[in-house]
Amino acid sequence: MSANPTAAQRRAQAEQDARWLNLPLSGPGDPASVAAHVRHLAKLMGGTRRASAAAAAAHWGQLYDRSVSRDFALACREGCAHCCCQIVLVYAPEAFRIAAQVGDRAETIAAMQKTAGTWSEASSRSANARTTCPLLSDCRCSIYDSRPLNCRAFVAIDVRECISTFVMMGKFAVRMPVPVTNLRTFCHMLMMAALRLAGKDIALYEMNAAVGRILETPDAEARWLAGEDILRGLAQDVPLAPEIEAEIERLAALAAPIAVRA
Ligand code: SF4
Repeated sequence: MSANPTAAQRRAQAEQDARWLNLPLSGPGDPASVAAHVRHLAKLMGGTRRASAAAAAAHWGQLYDRSVSRDFALACREGCAHCCCQIVLVYAPEAFRIAAQVGDRAETIAAMQKTAGTWSEASSRSANARTTCPLLSDCRCSIYDSRPLNCRAFVAIDVRECISTFVMMGKFAVRMPVPVTNLRTFCHMLMMAALRLAGKDIALYEMNAAVGRILETPDAEARWLAGEDILRGLAQDVPLAPEIEAEIERLAALAAPIAVRA
């Protein structure tokens, strides 16, 4: 396909992609599946008339859930929330999705503002800082279906390792199944490739600070979709290793050209 596909080519591409969008990733090596998901995410974040950053986050979370292997025993259970005390880094679309969930919860918003301040001070002092997530309610995540990928993909094999790490404040010792960490890494690269294709910054934000900025910014999602950096100054310093940067470029090239005007 040329760099400037015709409307008919874009339609044909969209029809082909649609066949993959409700399926799990069939291994990180399937180029057609991977390209379809990157294109879909980029379209949702690209400022088209059908764009929705929150929908991009929803698609991405569901893709992870559909793709993750359940062939091993995990210690994670409903009502167990030892790990919900870490800093949570999110992409902008995830922050928009969470903001839509909590926008009418005044107490939660106030707690998130307070926690954002705690993390802002803690980040410069201690990498091992802990504070209970303000979205936790009765040891359950109050935005469970919309929780960020970094929460979704944080699982443990042995609860004693969670207690040692998060309750006893010991050295980080939580083992996770390798297929889960591999899928999590691949999903991150998929989102980063989609952000690049959509012309957005590849940036991670502390969840509470990003949601707070979104809620205090009029028309935040529309402005972000149109290209305004409404999260200016909040991006965390997360350097990308050269091999990750190369993989993002490879995935973005796989998905281009993109039907951004579909
Ligand atoms: S967002 Fe939900 S899953 Fe993530 S740390 Fe907060 S309560 Fe836990």
